[in-house]
Amino acid sequence: SAVTLGDLARIQAQINPEKTLYIYEDHPLSFEAFNAHTNQLANGLLALDLKPDERVCYLGKNTVAYYELLIGTSKAGGVTCPINWRLSEAEIAYILSNSETRILFVGPEYIEKANRIAKAHSDLTIIALDSYDEWRDQYPSKEVNTDRLDQDDVLQLYTSGTTGRPKGVRMSNAAMLSNRRRDLDPESPAWNRWTSNDVGLVSMPCFHIGGTSFGLTILYAGATGVIMPTFDAGAQLDIMVKYDISKQFIVPSALQIILDDPRVNDTDFSKLNYIQYGASPIPLELMKACIDVFGCEFVQKYGMTETCGTCVALSPEDHTIPENPKMKSVGKPLNGVELRITDPEGQDCAVGETGEIVIRSASNMSGYWKNEEATKQTFFEGGWLRSGDAGFLDDEGYLYIQDRIKDMIVSGGENIYSAEVEIALLEDPLVQQVAVIGVPDEKWGEAVMAYIVLKDNASTTSEQIIENCRSKIAKFKCPKRVEFLTALPRNASGKILKRELRATHWGEMN
Ligand code: ATP
Ligand code: MG
Repeated sequence: SAVTLGDLARIQAQINPEKTLYIYEDHPLSFEAFNAHTNQLANGLLALDLKPDERVCYLGKNTVAYYELLIGTSKAGGVTCPINWRLSEAEIAYILSNSETRILFVGPEYIEKANRIAKAHSDLTIIALDSYDEWRDQYPSKEVNTDRLDQDDVLQLYTSGTTGRPKGVRMSNAAMLSNRRRDLDPESPAWNRWTSNDVGLVSMPCFHIGGTSFGLTILYAGATGVIMPTFDAGAQLDIMVKYDISKQFIVPSALQIILDDPRVNDTDFSKLNYIQYGASPIPLELMKACIDVFGCEFVQKYGMTETCGTCVALSPEDHTIPENPKMKSVGKPLNGVELRITDPEGQDCAVGETGEIVIRSASNMSGYWKNEEATKQTFFEGGWLRSGDAGFLDDEGYLYIQDRIKDMIVSGGENIYSAEVEIALLEDPLVQQVAVIGVPDEKWGEAVMAYIVLKDNASTTSEQIIENCRSKIAKFKCPKRVEFLTALPRNASGKILKRELRATHWGEMN
């Protein structure tokens, strides 16, 4: 069986040579042709003198070339590092230098940016995706063997940077493969299992673990996948119908965009069986609307870059609103995942008691790239990874996320979970989006402040918002200040950047 991602492509090409693996821009690519391309790419990288463990960066939208790079680089002994194309030039330059990259694959939209960056990085070789096929096709398709081991790195993803500067997360072959194996485990429930009959849709960005791992599961399952360059509601709806998509992963903010698209009403979703969603909390109202509109089963996923993606999931059976209180949870750990709730010293909390969620599984990261200090702080002894999320377990082992630890507010000695305040504020029918932070306060240490985006044409006052909130949660948790915005600052995956909101009150610290 496969030890590296490179082995995986080779083995699958032997099993299913003719079958279509990926469809990109309506062009199907067979398992065999894909594998041949990855060999050519590996030979091409070795011709550029790629060293073992060397990072190779990718700056572009989702393409089939990205997956060829991921597998081909593995075969050549390197590590693929996709970069978020929404980042600024300075941020991209930071990742290139932090990862010590010499070889950068660049999509047509970003070539000018890359060329400007290259001026300051004289040893950077740029391979334009526009001429990628010709470049690759100069090289032979003979298999390459660089004796990579299961514990060697194969992928490096930078975290979203929701709470600070992005960190390079090192993922080994073993971690990536074990997470894929979980998706095929015959012991795992049907809603979490892939078969070779599945047709998956990759529309979330590959520079996040959700996008990359979804595409890899398609390869591992011997299934077929459609790759979309980037999320687009209309295109997503068309493809869902055209290709009878059976599995897809969508973040909550993208689900909202699909629901807002008028075409949603003319689309036949009768063949759709599952939608997987996660990566950030989903408002209950949005979840209800999704169940009404799509009529399919829903699976919620919780995980992070550092766990190579999903490690906890909420089953379709638990998606019954509003009767089922489990809907407020993110579900239970998947097979092979151990989960605990601990205090800051790493001691276990009791059932129902809030602490930090810590996770152990074969898919935990190997550590942060060139950041011993952050790695040390992130692991407790025994390989337990600290998620940075606050939550609790109920007596049936369901996990409830309360907040990011960095987003917790301490006001007058009381812990306040910003997420709880946000849920209460979102119940106000005039409120569309909300972000709650702590701001400096002489009397209370921190005071609760809410940034609110109202629904179209809605108007109200801060006082009214605060008064409505007081009817839902304890007074000390309610905002002392409210400010209205037209949009909240968000990153490329749609996550709210509270650090930007906080910076206006606290300065640049997080
Ligand atoms: P950084 O670590 O750089 O601050 P980040 O934590 O946002 O960024 P990711 O690894 O992409 O980067 O996101 C993982 C985080 O997303 C989790 O730790 C959790 O806070 C949140 N998250 C993931 N899934 C869910 C979910 N189903 N419900 C609520 N929150 C979720
Ligand atoms: Mg994180």
